[in-house]
Amino acid sequence: MSLTRVALAGSTGSIGTQALEVIDAESEHFELTAIGATGRQPEVIIEQARRYRPAVVAISDPDAARFIAVELPGIEVRGGADAMASLALEADVVVNGVVGFAGLSVTLATLEAGRRLALANKESLIAAGPVVQIARRTPGAELVPVDSEHGAIHQCLRATDNRTRVARLLLTASGGPFRGRSSEDLANVTIENALAHPTWSMGPKITIDSSTLMNKGLEVIEAHELFGVPAGEAGYGIGFDEIDVVVHPQSIVHSMVEFTDASTIAQLSTPDMRLPIGYALAWPDRITTPFGRIDWSTLGRLDFEPPDLKAFPCLALAYAAGRTGGTAPAWISAANEVAVEAFLQGQIAWRDIAAVIAATLDRHDGAPATDAPSVIEADAQARRVAAEELNRFAAVVSL
Ligand code: MG
Repeated sequence: MSLTRVALAGSTGSIGTQALEVIDAESEHFELTAIGATGRQPEVIIEQARRYRPAVVAISDPDAARFIAVELPGIEVRGGADAMASLALEADVVVNGVVGFAGLSVTLATLEAGRRLALANKESLIAAGPVVQIARRTPGAELVPVDSEHGAIHQCLRATDNRTRVARLLLTASGGPFRGRSSEDLANVTIENALAHPTWSMGPKITIDSSTLMNKGLEVIEAHELFGVPAGEAGYGIGFDEIDVVVHPQSIVHSMVEFTDASTIAQLSTPDMRLPIGYALAWPDRITTPFGRIDWSTLGRLDFEPPDLKAFPCLALAYAAGRTGGTAPAWISAANEVAVEAFLQGQIAWRDIAAVIAATLDRHDGAPATDAPSVIEADAQARRVAAEELNRFAAVVSL
């Protein structure tokens, strides 16, 4: 196996640091050639660069880039809004671990460069689905998901050679910290409550998304983008009616695929993001380091239950936005980012996250997603509308 050159966009975040652990464990297989971050934690990326000696360091904030460049003699430091996307040309596989819509340029640049994209930034795929599908057809371009559920489905789909024999995708959800609670129960939950995820250790944005089930809703749209495109191209022709969510509190079964003969194939491990990261880096091979190995003598039981759409309205909102298509997924993702940030700042209550998103989607202008600028405009428009809706809810909270 020859050395695979890896670029890491979002190297200081949760996905980035776990990807570095995979690379450390598999240093005979992977070489880190480039890293990138926003520049908000300069000391972290400086330390990473000194330790791994990548050829290129990209920093989105130009001022931070100038400061960091002084600290890293002998390493090319690129600064500015396009710096992170330029990493696509420095590697065989680019891990996109950027948080939120800001990851769009990395997703598009990597696919358009005909490289493999290990995609942890689901927001770019969700917001810009039709644009990403075009970029994905670039010769050499590959999209391997770094999301435990979609990585699981990617593995399960290898159980058939005939793409028309896939009947259903079953996305599992842990249910988050508020599983089993009623909507009334959830009126006064705190930021600390929402950040206390029972099984997964992740960044704050996705942890809040897990508490509302919006993460699962966005993952339904993500699954549709990844596997829903027509069979015979990249996809399996799966529609939203064939994507189901199953709550599974132990987070051992990471997702399942049901085939036309009713055989259901599942992928299991303990919850450890290093497994799907390693899978995407090594695909179609596998890494040799066991991350997330199950101890069957202590595993106990696996439970499954349907999701509670009344207590967690975000899930139904995401299905609706996915079915609408066009820029509706961009709108829901942007509205969610605005609402989650406001919740984390203490401006709105937890239940207002769903309310702000619903009110924003009610004002969706129906614009199509034809190219990157139209998606960027849709994102900006949705953020403006979400901010207006937010102000109405924030005023109520402060009364
Ligand atoms: Mg996931």
